[in-house]
Amino acid sequence: MAYDYDLFVIGAGSGGVRAARLAAMSGAKVAVAEEHRVGGTCVIRGCVPKKFMVYASEFSQSFKTAEGFGWSPAQSTFDWPTFLAAKDKEIARLSGIYVTNLRNAGADLVHSKARLLDAHTVQVDAQERSYTAGKILIATGGRPWRPTDFAGAKLAITSEEAFHLPELPKRILIAGGGYIAVEFACIFAGLGVETTLVYRGPNILRGFDDHVRAHLTEEMEKRGVTVLLGCQHRSIEKTASGLVSDLGSQHVETDVVMFALGRIPYVEGLGLEAAGVKLADNGAVAVDEYSRTNVENIWAVGDVTNRINLTPVAIREGAAFAETEFYSRPTTFDHEMVASAVFSQPPIGSVGLTEADARHKFGKIDIYLSRFRPMKVTFYGGEERALIKLVVDNATQKVVGCHIVGPDAPEIIQMAAIAMKMGVTKQQWDSTCAVHPTLAEELVTMREPYVPQELGRVA
Ligand SMILES: Cc1cc2nc3c(=O)[nH]c(=O)nc-3n(C[C@H](O)[C@H](O)[C@H](O)COP(=O)(O)OP(=O)(O)OC[C@H]3O[C@@H](n4cnc5c(N)ncnc54)[C@H](O)[C@@H]3O)c2cc1C
Repeated sequence: MAYDYDLFVIGAGSGGVRAARLAAMSGAKVAVAEEHRVGGTCVIRGCVPKKFMVYASEFSQSFKTAEGFGWSPAQSTFDWPTFLAAKDKEIARLSGIYVTNLRNAGADLVHSKARLLDAHTVQVDAQERSYTAGKILIATGGRPWRPTDFAGAKLAITSEEAFHLPELPKRILIAGGGYIAVEFACIFAGLGVETTLVYRGPNILRGFDDHVRAHLTEEMEKRGVTVLLGCQHRSIEKTASGLVSDLGSQHVETDVVMFALGRIPYVEGLGLEAAGVKLADNGAVAVDEYSRTNVENIWAVGDVTNRINLTPVAIREGAAFAETEFYSRPTTFDHEMVASAVFSQPPIGSVGLTEADARHKFGKIDIYLSRFRPMKVTFYGGEERALIKLVVDNATQKVVGCHIVGPDAPEIIQMAAIAMKMGVTKQQWDSTCAVHPTLAEELVTMREPYVPQELGRVA
């Protein structure tokens, strides 16, 4: 049977765009539907605008630091509308590049919500018509999860609205303990907003190494973020002077309440039932290692599959799909040793296993840990501390975990990830000569295993 397209991609985000471009470049007839803006979460309302906000918010600390180096106090104020306009201009430019790249590859772009009518037919709402396709790729990403079970929950915003607040609030409360909550707390605090982070668990950043979690909490508090642990919303009430969050043990009044309570796969209205596509128990599209769903001609990549929800992972899954299906090169993406960053202040870079996970997996492990004031901080008499931790499998001496909190940690971790992906041993790691004077040199100069002491707040 002749189809309208060889491949129809639903969602022009990180994974969908990469798959569509590669497939189209192979000569296949490809269409991509996007209901919002091309570029997806990462470019429009995720990694990229967030990083711009991180950059903007870091200046306040730099101004303070500068005084310790002899600069006169900076008489500078921050103008939120000016920043927003510049940010939106850059996002529009980047989204335009994605559109151009898709067109140059020969893919058709359809600006519409798309949904499956059956395993080979996609309804395109804006055009009030449907297309048939030999293969279909679901790359619809995720969206913020919002609680609805307490009064006033609707008064809160999510990260989506945080990028477009009409004015910078004086006070904000952020509910959540994941990396998005932590990053936004640091952003707003850096921009001079009185910031409270509220998390129901015993410490933030579940899934990260316990030393990292405790260390970052302390560092955030040093920078003025109030971290409230072990409590959560009972209600939010709008009053004449703001929004009052009832957290059980206390009430906190702020101008804005932001939920960063996790993200869920975006499958709503996608017609998965009509096509017979099955979901996993967690609501994600269930796929095998080749990103194939239970329906033979339908695949899914990226956040909608809820494997590792990061842009580079979605891109690699999309690329692996295209390689397999359009270049006859069966390819899977290896989800082991994927490095990640938290753009908190100070930032985190992390790759491999946490101490707890490594202990569980290998039994006997060696820990190397260093906690110190970076050179720049000691110069001006600051209190900020960096943390570097290596987790080593005792039997093989392979470095199986590397965790850094401190300046440039996200940049450093990328290189550590290369060595660890290659199976580097602690001896090989240490035989690498240091680069001096840097923070990273500490990585290759930790000779003595760490003797555990009482940790701070850990889960
Ligand atoms: C605030 C925030 C910060 C983040 N920071 C980072 C970071 O620093 N580093 C990192 O690696 N990752 C980060 N992420 C995660 C990253 O953005 C995602 O992992 C990545 O965008 C996933 O790509 P994707 O292709 O799966 O989906 P998306 O990029 O979400 O793209 C899906 C697209 O599909 C469209 N769509 C959905 N349904 C339909 C439909 N039915 N019809 C048509 N179109 C549809 C959506 O509009 C969207 O454009 C962040 C996410 C958020 C929210």
